[in-house]
Order: sequence, then structure tokens, then C-alpha cells
Amino acid sequence: MIPFLDLNQINAPYLPAIEEATLRVLRSGWYILGNELKTFEKDFAAYCEAEYCIGTANGLDAITLILKAFEFPVGSEIIVPANTYIASVLPVSYLHHIPVFVEPDPVTMLLDPAKIEEKITPLSKAIITVDLYGRSCEMEPVLEIANRYNLKVITDAAQAHGAIYQNKKTGSIADATAFSFYPTKNLGALGDAGAVTTSDRNLAEKITYLRNYGSVEKYKNDYQGVNSRLDEIQAAILSIKLPFLDKDNERRKHIASRYLNEIKLQELILPPGDKRNEDVWHLFIVRHPQRTVLIAHLEKAGVQTNVHYPLPIHQQRAYSHLSHLQLPITELIHNQVISLPLHPVLTDSEVTYIIQCINRFDTI
Ligand SMILES: *Cc1c(COP(=O)(O)O)cnc(C)c1O
Repeated sequence: MIPFLDLNQINAPYLPAIEEATLRVLRSGWYILGNELKTFEKDFAAYCEAEYCIGTANGLDAITLILKAFEFPVGSEIIVPANTYIASVLPVSYLHHIPVFVEPDPVTMLLDPAKIEEKITPLSKAIITVDLYGRSCEMEPVLEIANRYNLKVITDAAQAHGAIYQNKKTGSIADATAFSFYPTKNLGALGDAGAVTTSDRNLAEKITYLRNYGSVEKYKNDYQGVNSRLDEIQAAILSIKLPFLDKDNERRKHIASRYLNEIKLQELILPPGDKRNEDVWHLFIVRHPQRTVLIAHLEKAGVQTNVHYPLPIHQQRAYSHLSHLQLPITELIHNQVISLPLHPVLTDSEVTYIIQCINRFDTI
């Protein structure tokens, strides 16, 4: 069986270094907000070409803390892509803002900037873009609209560490960018972890306070903050893996280009190519009208796939008050997508086998 993802396999090369770093932290007696975190924050900010990085407990909190720092009034409208993981939208609801869904471009499946402006009202305060599947959203028109209407731009780059848009790293483009280091992400910890990057000094300071009870110095709280800190062990582990992120992303790009060139199946829609070599291919998403049959065919051949995601946010029970929304492009995407295995330790022969299995589907 070729698993969709095997974290044991992914982390195996790092284990000796991780064991050493974990012992170092254990024996240091300092587990929260210490030098391991400082080092990682500095290095990840540099990697993203941003001025500041603030570690958080997870990616969801990173988005929440950015929104919280902006202090938009209750009832503000936040523009969000309709096709994304629910974590991009939950923080909007938590903070009593209103998510306003925008349909994706049917080809890239990412937020369609041409459909933003019609959703803007006097209550609009921000646009959340999501670099879904490892591809940067089309940012230039988004920034232009945001500028014109005085909106903040927040990017959810939980799936896109290292992705580039017009020679800029994601993490350096929006007013603030949220990352997740959930174990399955392109840069994954061995537990929960996340971060915010920004080049806005005041915003960075405020988020640094907010993640630690709003404390500007010990027992002096200027804000009603939360507890959302990236612990020392996870920071040390991330520092070990960060130097290999580009190499891992290169391997992902190689596998993606093989899938793009060699998969030939009628009715199967491949993701758009990556001419500028900017995507980091967190997921390789294909679409097929008979998804269930194709998944079963691959499973039978020993290829495990996944579906990101089967049910759009506006059709989730958690958002039942939005069930009246009609978002046909989003709904069609959710009905057709299949994620193929794509990760840095997938071998060439496994890739060849997966391609053969897909290409044989027509003949069965
Ligand atoms: C993983 C993910 C998140 C949330 O990250 P956590 O660390 O699990 O909280 C947010 N947005 C997207 C698009 C994600 O893929």
C-alpha cells in the first residue's frame, strides 16, 4: 500500500537531531518562551522575508490573533474564500465578525479577485486570502482592492510555507500571514504549532502580547489576551527541519511536474501548471466526475488517496445559518476533488506506479 502520507517516514531522517534537541530542552529546565523560540522566530521571519515572526500554539490561533489585534468592531464583514479549510473562517466567527464568502476561480480553485468587489459593503474590514494546496492566491488585484477600500489583507498560508508570488515569499505580502506547523504541513512540528509573520512593528508587538495573556511585562496586562505560545521543544524541532524545507519543496515540485506531464485520463482535471515554479504543492488536487469509483480503483491497486475537502463550510452543520447560500463552483469542487499522494519521501517508482494506476482507469 502506498499511504497518502506517513509521518514516521517523513520524520525519520530528522530523528537523531530531534532526539538530541529534545533532550537539550528537557535538561535546560526552560520550556516556554525561551531561546529556542527566539531562534526559530528569527529564522522563520528571515525565511519568509518578513521583519517579524511570532510563534503561536497552532495555525488557527495565528489567524485569530491577527484578527484580534486589528480590533474590528463586532459585526464587521470579513471577506473569505468559500473554498478553504474551515480553520480559515472559524476565527472570523469566534470574534463575532461576519464571514462573507467569495467563490473561487474554477481553474485554480483559489479566491477569485474579480468577485471580491461586489461583496464589499461599508462594514467590510478585511480580506482573508488562503494559499490553498500550496499555491499563492493572486495577490496583486487583492492588494489593489484592499488599498482602494482601506481593508486589511490577511493571508492563511498554513499550506504554503515557501510559496512565492511575483518574486515575493508568502509571509511578506499581506499585512499579516498565518502559518500552521501541524505535523502534516510542508514544515511540520511533532505536535501543534503555528506562527504569524508581518513587517508591521506595532502589529507584531501587539500579537506578541496577545499570545501571552496580553502581558507586556510580567503581571502587567494591557490587553485581554489568550494563551497561545509555541513551546520550546516544538520550536527546537522546527529549527532542525527549516533548513530542509526548500529541498523538500523542490522534491514536491518534481513529483507535481511528473503528475502534470504523465497523467493522461479522460475527464480527469489536473491542477493548472506552475510555469513560474512558485507553488510548493502541499496537496496535488485532481478532479473527476466519478470520484468515488476512481478512489476505489486506486485503493484496490494499493494507492491511498484523500479528499480535501468533502463538504464546503457553508454546508457544514456548524454553519447551518449559512446553508441557504448558493456557491455552485465551491460545491462542484467539493464533489469532485481527490488528493493524490505527494510528499518529499515518495519515491520515483511509487510516482510511476500511481500514474500508471490512474492512466489505466479508462480501460477498466
Ligand atoms: C492546517 C490549516 C489551518 C489550521 O492549522 P492548525 O495548526 O491545525 O490550527 C488553517 N488553515 C488551513 C488552510 C490549513 O490547512
